[in-house]
Amino acid sequence: MVESVDTIVVGAGPAGSATAYSLAKAGHEVLLVERGKTPGEKNVSGGVLYGSVLHELIPNFWDEAPLERVITNRNLVFLSGESSFSLDFSSSKLEKPPHNGYSVIRYDFDQWFAKQAEETGALLATGIRVDDLLWENKQIVGIKAGSDEIRAKVVVAADGINSTLVEQAGLRKDLKAKYIALGIKEVIGLPRDVIENRFNLEHNEGTAHTYLGCTKGYPGGGFLYTNQDSLSLGIVLKLPIFKTKSHSKAPEFIDHLKQFPYIRRLIKEGTRLEYSAHLVPEGGYHGLSKLYTDGFLVTGDAAGLTLNIGYALEGMNFAIASGVAAAKTILRAHKQNDFTQSTMKHYQKLMNQSFVLKDMKTFRNAPAIVSSPRLMKSYPDFINNLALDLYQSTASPRPKLINLILKHVVHEISLPHLFIDGIKAVRGL
Ligand SMILES: Cc1cc2nc3c(=O)[nH]c(=O)nc-3n(C[C@H](O)[C@H](O)[C@H](O)COP(=O)(O)OP(=O)(O)OC[C@H]3O[C@@H](n4cnc5c(N)ncnc54)[C@H](O)[C@@H]3O)c2cc1C
Repeated sequence: MVESVDTIVVGAGPAGSATAYSLAKAGHEVLLVERGKTPGEKNVSGGVLYGSVLHELIPNFWDEAPLERVITNRNLVFLSGESSFSLDFSSSKLEKPPHNGYSVIRYDFDQWFAKQAEETGALLATGIRVDDLLWENKQIVGIKAGSDEIRAKVVVAADGINSTLVEQAGLRKDLKAKYIALGIKEVIGLPRDVIENRFNLEHNEGTAHTYLGCTKGYPGGGFLYTNQDSLSLGIVLKLPIFKTKSHSKAPEFIDHLKQFPYIRRLIKEGTRLEYSAHLVPEGGYHGLSKLYTDGFLVTGDAAGLTLNIGYALEGMNFAIASGVAAAKTILRAHKQNDFTQSTMKHYQKLMNQSFVLKDMKTFRNAPAIVSSPRLMKSYPDFINNLALDLYQSTASPRPKLINLILKHVVHEISLPHLFIDGIKAVRGL
């Protein structure tokens, strides 16, 4: 193991590989350290990769990267008992490169991305867990991994949501449970032709579903993404749910999701290939850590750079964008031969200018809105009960639409709540 390098990047997820790739491409010396035996081994994601940032970094990456399907269909589904109500959107405009999004299997994708960094010149060290930061005169000067100490001018924390380095650097006090969710995911194997028939897909088209009403009224939601010959089915739940003993255990939530008739039909005859769980930062703008200090930058989930606005969860592209900004900052610091906060703060400036922090700021109230208890139960019940009344024909006279709507608003939501939620949604989303 080397004893000194210019930059050490801890964690070979999307943030770490993007940082290392960008630095290596500029001819810079960089060590990418990953605790898994292979990158991606420890990673879980839904996952739709939104590709525009990666396309800027590796043009036409879709020609080489291990991508599953191009997402051309989005479906927001309100589940309520035996009923389901869908907002289904498809467009062949999304089929053409540069595509909007891809389903990915993280084990394959992360390996590929780290390999790109390695082939570009980064030194990749796997199976090594970084335990501590190395300090000298109150300055971060490297990392400790077991008995090894490696020195560097800059250390980049890309070690994901459980980052201990961010806390050691004093950039975050502790990770607040209210800003974290638990994601539980199953990969369910099905033949390719079954997936394409069942989801009305052709060739390499894919779909991404978001489910509301499937979390027993607790804050969270479900998702399903089509891969080539498997489905990623999962649920994301706010962590405080699991604090109270009376609440169900995590696996019960995914079993509950699978029992809805809508889901049961989609996964019928599938084989469970994988079961995993991972934390997701869900505090949005309010849950961000400080991004830099002397000789130290924080990227991706380690900084809390993930945004859930209900109809989309973005994290991987935010991680890549932050990695690119971190690399630009490091190259600038080298030019100026200054690794103190005064050059590191350029990273904050780049992030402020990027779509990542702009989106997180614009949608800073979204995490609270999308975890409202009414969105978890009352609205899915409302829309499904209303649709049932609309489409069911009985031998009694049909009420007018407005009367039906009012009846269900009063029953399932209440007029004042509808008014308050409407204002919050207009302002926050
Ligand atoms: C269930 C679920 C669904 C999701 N769905 C989506 C989605 O559809 N779209 C989307 O864009 N995002 C999604 N996300 C979020 C996305 O996965 C993350 O935002 C993204 O992975 C963050 O990338 P990262 O590189 O910052 O961190 P990670 O991907 O967590 O990578 C961190 C890396 O650091 C390594 N590491 C950690 N500690 C150490 C250490 N001490 N020493 C060495 N290595 C270490 C880990 O092994 C890992 O490889 C989802 C997340 C979950 C859990």
